Amino acid sequence: MRASIAIDGPAGAGKSTVAKGVAKRLGVPYLDTGAMYRAIAVYVKQNGADFTDAEAVQRLAAKAEVEVRYQDGVQHVWLDGEDCTHLLRQEEMGKGASLISVHPSVRDRMASLQREIGTRQCVVMDGREIGTNVLPDTPNKFFVTASAECRALRRVRELEARGESPVFREVLEEIRQRDKRDSERAYMPLRRAEDAKLIDTTELSVEEAIEAVIREVV
Ligand code: C5P
Repeated sequence: MRASIAIDGPAGAGKSTVAKGVAKRLGVPYLDTGAMYRAIAVYVKQNGADFTDAEAVQRLAAKAEVEVRYQDGVQHVWLDGEDCTHLLRQEEMGKGASLISVHPSVRDRMASLQREIGTRQCVVMDGREIGTNVLPDTPNKFFVTASAECRALRRVRELEARGESPVFREVLEEIRQRDKRDSERAYMPLRRAEDAKLIDTTELSVEEAIEAVIREVV
């Protein structure tokens, strides 16, 4: 593999499962960029600000020291010198990340950190505009997607496995709203790069999707 791999797509399409699988097979680190936006959401919450308070969000995001470190091959995100990884997967932080990531200054700061990581070494990176903005020069670009219903069903199963009792209709609505926000934001929306290979995981097993990526990597 000559260059980092960029995997973009909507929430719940299986991007991170595919990206992690590809990274493992190729023996390179996996960078979950959503975790970096989620860390900013944690910081905003810890500082008592609202995710919709544009001024506070931008001020806090400019101040937060976000650092990615690997422990036994697993990504951890450090926030102002403290490991905040255990807080990132909460639903509230997913929603918060989606709200705070609309601001250009927040995106630019995260993108330059991600670019630095992805050009220093070969990694598999997943997100929303990795192929279009963070690593536009890589020949290894993929757009992983699946139907909204399929993604909602996967999310429901994931939440149930964690002991929660989600309502399918609500999860589907949340996914649709997040898709809308991610693809309609004015700055760096979720978009398939022209040269990204499309991988629809609606009918694919995890292994098949991983294989479909690996076949195309140069
Ligand atoms: O992928 P994940 O669900 O962790 O991302 C949470 C939110 O962060 C997304 O809904 C999206 O709004 C935002 N995000 C982004 N750009 C990325 C990764 C995540 O805007 N590269």
